[in-house]
Amino acid sequence: MPNKTTRRDFLNGTQVAIGASLLSPWTAVFGRDAAGAPPGGDYYPPALTGLRGSHEGAWQTMHARVDGATWSPLPVEEDYDLVVVGGGISGLSAARFYLDENPGARVLVLDNHDDFGGHAKRNEFTVGGRTQIAYGGTESIDTPSAYADVSQALLRDIGVDVQRFYEYFDQDLYDEMGLSYGIAFDAETYGERKLVRGYGSRPWREFIADTPLSDTAKADLLRAFTDERDYLPGMSRDEKIALLSQISYSSYLEDYVKVDAQVLAMYQRWGMSFWCVGMDEIPAIDILGYTDGGGLPGLQYTVSREDGRGVEPYIFHFPDGNASIARLLVRSLIPGALPGKTMEDSVTARLDYTRLDRAGAQVRIRLNSTAVHVVHGENDKSVHVSYVRDGKPHTVRGRRCIMACYNSAIPYLCPELPAPQKAGLAYNVKVPLVYTKVAVRDWRAFAELGLRYVYYTNDFYKQVELDYPVSIGDYAFGTDPGQPMTLHLCHVPYFADLQGPAQWRAGRQQLLETPFATYEHHVRDQLDQALSGAGFDADRDITAITVNRWAHGYSYSPKLLWEPDYASEQDKPWVIGRQPFGRIAIANSDAGASADTNTAIAQAYRAVRELARA
Ligand SMILES: Cc1cc2nc3c(=O)[nH]c(=O)nc-3n(C[C@H](O)[C@H](O)[C@H](O)COP(=O)(O)OP(=O)(O)OC[C@H]3O[C@@H](n4cnc5c(N)ncnc54)[C@H](O)[C@@H]3O)c2cc1C
Repeated sequence: MPNKTTRRDFLNGTQVAIGASLLSPWTAVFGRDAAGAPPGGDYYPPALTGLRGSHEGAWQTMHARVDGATWSPLPVEEDYDLVVVGGGISGLSAARFYLDENPGARVLVLDNHDDFGGHAKRNEFTVGGRTQIAYGGTESIDTPSAYADVSQALLRDIGVDVQRFYEYFDQDLYDEMGLSYGIAFDAETYGERKLVRGYGSRPWREFIADTPLSDTAKADLLRAFTDERDYLPGMSRDEKIALLSQISYSSYLEDYVKVDAQVLAMYQRWGMSFWCVGMDEIPAIDILGYTDGGGLPGLQYTVSREDGRGVEPYIFHFPDGNASIARLLVRSLIPGALPGKTMEDSVTARLDYTRLDRAGAQVRIRLNSTAVHVVHGENDKSVHVSYVRDGKPHTVRGRRCIMACYNSAIPYLCPELPAPQKAGLAYNVKVPLVYTKVAVRDWRAFAELGLRYVYYTNDFYKQVELDYPVSIGDYAFGTDPGQPMTLHLCHVPYFADLQGPAQWRAGRQQLLETPFATYEHHVRDQLDQALSGAGFDADRDITAITVNRWAHGYSYSPKLLWEPDYASEQDKPWVIGRQPFGRIAIANSDAGASADTNTAIAQAYRAVRELARA
């Protein structure tokens, strides 16, 4: 059942004026992570565990701004050539591009989190004296050959050679160990909670026989996988693609493959970690390109895949995901912040956070600093950016400004923007999701059960999976099941009777209201369900948990069934939203309505070019 809570949503909240003085108590919950003073040498956010991602202290100021909080205008304290709001990959790339064009420029990057990188976040654990590196968000350079030229060039410039991942990523390890996919069926739908192993690797007849599906559902599922049947007979390939683009995968399974409701329920949440909606909102044609978790039935003999997608393997992965891109950008922006010279040595290098915001430095990255007001100053020759740090407001002046933060927040920050542009920016409802990382002292239970990935048909975490087997530089993936492992669990709020943006708004609120104890409870429960048969004991085997809670996660993506057609590119809300305004330009992956690193970089480049033209 959806959470019919009455608390206001981030973007749709009623504007309630509250005084800035009310904000100071927040400093009490900031703790040492958001200290206003320069950080000491022990300031090292990647090693923090518990509730991370959109951590406590990071979001409250912006939510107060949305609720109408204002801060008195302040005198300008510092001057810069460029102020960037948002220190994710897009904001850091914007700083890089701007410096490439203006080598002497002084740049300030502001971010509300206690770490830079935005979604590209690094997690670290120490298990048995060994440092385990994990990705708290943005996980891989997906299909780098399709990256824009400017994005590929930036990766090269900061030292990333994607071809080397063919050597660093062990594509055969799990197959050679006989590890495959399992499905954990839920009791509510199937009468018993049961894990069935070997999805996609055992013969379908055998696998399906072990499931708790009804006899009818079993027969339907077997037919959908094994019958070499065209479920759209008499249609040309183009006609099929046109139809499959207009109906959901659920409708296709129900109306054309005609499977039992238990089979529909089995797949309803299969794509939650990618599209973050149920299968009833995902165009059937898109399933062709999605093989995560072992693949889906019913389409393989109806329409073949001839689009060339998927030719590149999904291996372009640093142990901390694309946080390495953010770290390499910081290395290029602030000499000495990240020791070393190569992509390989960057993986284990400890970033010196004391160097990020040094007085007199050409580039400064100021963390724990939430922009609250961005307006043009003196005769429109500058931009005044006010931000709140440690409960106290400050104002800096930039000759130019790039807003690389969540685009839906910009209408609240930039009151000068025209109303249609604000509406375009607000259209980008971000998608909430959680990446929970669980450090375990070994992964013997997975090896014994032959498991690498478990999909849960209807549980809190949609999936649990082993880490990607990647070894780079001094960082060696523990290939022996007796060694520590970081498990990846993904939770996406799901409300059966809400669609797209309505669901994401409700889910975002639910994430912020869910205490760490709940995330932890489900980790223990679901791991015990899957693994206790092989001796796994959550109390004994889990050494640490980091919950990367992204209430504002993926960028809005206009690829779901209900997205309207637009007459032209210029009519798209996010294109209207990202137009430059005076000395302010707009970046972030939101500006391209696509949740990927290529877009984050390419939109940063566009924003910098627009400022140059202005
Ligand atoms: C869980 C998850 C997994 C993902 N996996 C992948 C993947 O595998 N591959 C891929 O290509 N993409 C992935 N993405 C998409 C990802 O969003 C982009 O690749 C990219 O990291 C986005 O960068 P960005 O700079 O555009 O935005 P962000 O990373 O969101 O950075 C924007 C920053 O601005 C800050 N900000 C917001 N408001 C303010 C304010 N008022 N003041 C100061 N700062 C502010 C934000 O807090 C944030 O730190 C994933 C996203 C998520 C959430």
